[in-house]
Amino acid sequence: MPTLHTDVIVIGAGTAGLNARREVEEAGGNALLIESGHYGTTCARVGCMPSKLLIAAAEVAHVIADAERFGIQTASNWSVHGKAVMERVRRERDRFTGFVVKATEEIPEAQRLRGRARFLGPSSVQVDGGPRIEGRAVVVATGSSPWVPPPFKADGRQVLVSDDLFELEELPQSMAVIGTGVVGLELGQALMRLGVRVSFFNPSQGLGPLTDPAVKRVAREVLSADLPLHHGAQVLGVEQGPAGVDIRWRDRTGTTHKDQFATVLAAAGRQPNLAGLNLERTGLVLDANGRPPWDPRTTQCGDLPIFLAGDASGHRPLLHEASDEGRIAGLNALRYPEVCAHVRRESLTIVFTEPQMAVVGTRYADLDPNEVEIGEVSYADQGRARVMGRNAGLVRIYARRKRCTLLGAEMFGPRVEHLAHLLAWAVQQGLSVQQSLQMPFYHPVFEEGLRTALRDLSNRLLITSDCRAEDLADAPGA
Ligand SMILES: Cc1cc2nc3c(=O)[nH]c(=O)nc-3n(C[C@H](O)[C@H](O)[C@H](O)COP(=O)(O)OP(=O)(O)OC[C@H]3O[C@@H](n4cnc5c(N)ncnc54)[C@H](O)[C@@H]3O)c2cc1C
Repeated sequence: MPTLHTDVIVIGAGTAGLNARREVEEAGGNALLIESGHYGTTCARVGCMPSKLLIAAAEVAHVIADAERFGIQTASNWSVHGKAVMERVRRERDRFTGFVVKATEEIPEAQRLRGRARFLGPSSVQVDGGPRIEGRAVVVATGSSPWVPPPFKADGRQVLVSDDLFELEELPQSMAVIGTGVVGLELGQALMRLGVRVSFFNPSQGLGPLTDPAVKRVAREVLSADLPLHHGAQVLGVEQGPAGVDIRWRDRTGTTHKDQFATVLAAAGRQPNLAGLNLERTGLVLDANGRPPWDPRTTQCGDLPIFLAGDASGHRPLLHEASDEGRIAGLNALRYPEVCAHVRRESLTIVFTEPQMAVVGTRYADLDPNEVEIGEVSYADQGRARVMGRNAGLVRIYARRKRCTLLGAEMFGPRVEHLAHLLAWAVQQGLSVQQSLQMPFYHPVFEEGLRTALRDLSNRLLITSDCRAEDLADAPGA
């Protein structure tokens, strides 16, 4: 069989792979895009978009269920039509996916291959036993897959992963959600608001991406008022039968329990799709998890012509990071061996639960307590939050004692997606607490809570450093 040649081999037609391919093309190179599964990307097909569509339906149901406390009488016979909910999720999802599939299929056929790619050497791959493909460099953008913890075994029927969920014709009557990470919490809470009896199981105390014990404590208190969160639960046995899945577990006190659920959602995290790529044949030294050495600024693996992008890198498994890494990988793959280090954006993670969670910049777990001051605001009594009947949560903001610059924050509260953006931009701009306080804050808005936390931070910084506080001498006209 003749060997095929191209400048850059791109493995995976997800967000990272498509961005890598586009960068190569726009910079004047040739790319060959290889995809083993469906076109359409994880984000559009089974990730960000269908999950937010499900959450949107759940929010409507929740507003109706909560209407009476605002003096609004809803018809007593309102109900959730599970089939219609899932139909809308799929219809809108297919619309989003359709755009991506169309754009991918518009790539000339000679620049696309369907099948599973495996390395034959550092810059050569083979697809399903086909011809050898030689490139100057390879971009690995193979994404990630849900991890199913034992003793569960996903069967797409009773034990599901998030990829399966959006294909359900009807909402199940009950569901055990295994995992209280981002995906488990978002989907589990949405299903619960749509009338599904949901219980969450996690052997640890993990709650989304939160690492700040104070924020986590408030989040657990608030969420567990509605959601049955079995933290510290050891699953002892699982039996799948015709009526559902029987789960036996031991709680933190050592008491054993048993319950039956129509379905189980295994949401215990995702793993980069690196196994099966034959990375061992490239000469890369892999760690115990099969991961190669990797530089987030270049996306390069060691000094080889291999560039890892998106969820496959295991760095920050988020859509905007997959786009960035894809672009960096594509450019550097084409320029190899002249690779360029890129400055990465400030880290930003948002969880679309209600209340929402967010982690901005340096998370609590990575702070040096000797160098940091923390300011906070509770949303339990925040003005706008109270008006909206959403008064719950805690936001904690971190700043360096020296120079008073913002470092990051962990948040749990109403619509903190917006506060998180403001703060991420401020952190990335290197703003100090004082400079942030000099920005306008409207009244009455959730953002006023941010100002309260910044003022708290400012007061604390004054005690421990010689920084000046909010709008004193620094304020224009003062
Ligand atoms: C339920 C859920 C909700 C999410 N919500 C959000 C959110 O709200 N916001 C956010 O920022 N992120 C969210 N994410 C994460 C986001 O979807 C991912 O970070 C992003 O889609 C990853 O893109 P990617 O290009 O790395 O991978 P993918 O889009 O998965 O692309 C990888 C591609 O590689 C292919 N492939 C794998 N192995 C091979 C091989 N050997 N040969 C050829 N092809 C191969 C796969 O078939 C796949 O098409 C969510 C994820 C999930 C699961």
